[in-house]
Amino acid sequence: MCARWNKVGYSLGDCFSICAKNTIPLSELVSLFQCNEPSGILYGLLSLQPHYFLTSMLIHKAYRYELDPNNVQRTALLQHAGVARFTYNWGLDQRIKLYKSNQGNDRFTDPMKQHKLLNSMKKTQFPWMYECSKCAPQEALRDLGRAFKNFYRGLKDGKRIGFPRFKSKGRYDSFRLYGTIRFVGRKIQLPRIGKIRVKEKRKQYCKGRILSVTVRRRANRWFVSVTVEEEIPDPKPIVCYAVGVDLGIKTLATLSDGTTFANPRALGREIKKLRKLSKSLSRKKRGSKNQGRAKLRLARMHLRIFNVRQDTLHKLTTYLAKSHSRIVIENLGVSGMMKNRKLARAIADVGMYEFRRQLEYKCQWYGSQLHVAPRTFPSSKRCSSCGHKKKELSLSERVYECEECGLTIDRDLNAALNLVTVSLPETLNARGEDVRLPVISSEMTKKQTSMKQEPKWTNGPKCCSSLS
Ligand SMILES: [Zn+2]
Repeated sequence: MCARWNKVGYSLGDCFSICAKNTIPLSELVSLFQCNEPSGILYGLLSLQPHYFLTSMLIHKAYRYELDPNNVQRTALLQHAGVARFTYNWGLDQRIKLYKSNQGNDRFTDPMKQHKLLNSMKKTQFPWMYECSKCAPQEALRDLGRAFKNFYRGLKDGKRIGFPRFKSKGRYDSFRLYGTIRFVGRKIQLPRIGKIRVKEKRKQYCKGRILSVTVRRRANRWFVSVTVEEEIPDPKPIVCYAVGVDLGIKTLATLSDGTTFANPRALGREIKKLRKLSKSLSRKKRGSKNQGRAKLRLARMHLRIFNVRQDTLHKLTTYLAKSHSRIVIENLGVSGMMKNRKLARAIADVGMYEFRRQLEYKCQWYGSQLHVAPRTFPSSKRCSSCGHKKKELSLSERVYECEECGLTIDRDLNAALNLVTVSLPETLNARGEDVRLPVISSEMTKKQTSMKQEPKWTNGPKCCSSLS
């Protein structure tokens, strides 16, 4: 395309309007202009609004609903989960045996090979598998293949990723299906199982093309998560100021504009109840009905804790990604921090990794940019006003007092203000492409917003004014 346009000899302005009209993707646009005209201005514009020329993108999204199966369906679901679990364990056993008999030469990492072997054995050895959809065992073997791949990758990179384990009944009952899956009224139709009622009432359950469903049981409730391929309009870049986010234990998040989000302490609040329930479980007779009941009560409590944490994080990350053009977060070494025995539980309770994971994909959806500050950046120790760096700052000091300029400020707010000014070694823009900008300083954020057409400040760029 680029050569064709060069021959025609369009001017820079022409190319611009053509691109905008014909929705040429960013990558092509860059190559187009590189060979056409020296275009420093264009690069400037591109770095400002990289999503301007894109119109839509395909994303994979998952929608989760709770199922309301009747007794027959419940049995069918359990049967499928059982087949998936059996196949997974069978596959793992096969691989271990093969590895031992070949002295580790043949790793047997191909799930398709294994599935062929299983199919040849099905008729004689596992005829009961025919009662379930063929997807359940196939996907279980695929999961096993992935588990092994992760394990080998961990060995290579020196990360501690465990060897795949055998699954036990009732611990993680799930299976994946694909094929003809659709929503009919309030029901979801699954292959071989049939139509199951969905608890949530919606006009439209999910947009886009359904790729697969994963059915999972948690605390004796059945959930389905539907993976779809959805085309979403390319997000318009958000016209708003950059924000630094400091995660903490006392307050979940402190933003550089002074907003704070309380920590729900999902686990911390329920820990006494949890302790009581697990003690009660351990006192029940093994295999008795009472034990089953106690187990369920404990599982429900765990699910509740998980839900509370997930809900808070989703609300926070959605707010951040939807209403800020740039979000700067710390690169927290969570595993290092977990070594502090006194704080480990409280840190795990926050869900910091989950926070970053959600923010990464939501920034792609909503058109904001996520920047991760380097691990060495002294966000807490540095003074946000004069840049003086303290040598020591204990965790108990909740208020930052600067010896140089006399600034007295909340510790977390100081860290958040520092984060906004971070230079950018690791960046992620809306499409995960690497757009490296020199430094975001308060000057730059100001300049950018004034260049865009509608700089709507609702409550003023607080972070910028306090920085300059
Ligand atoms: Zn200072």
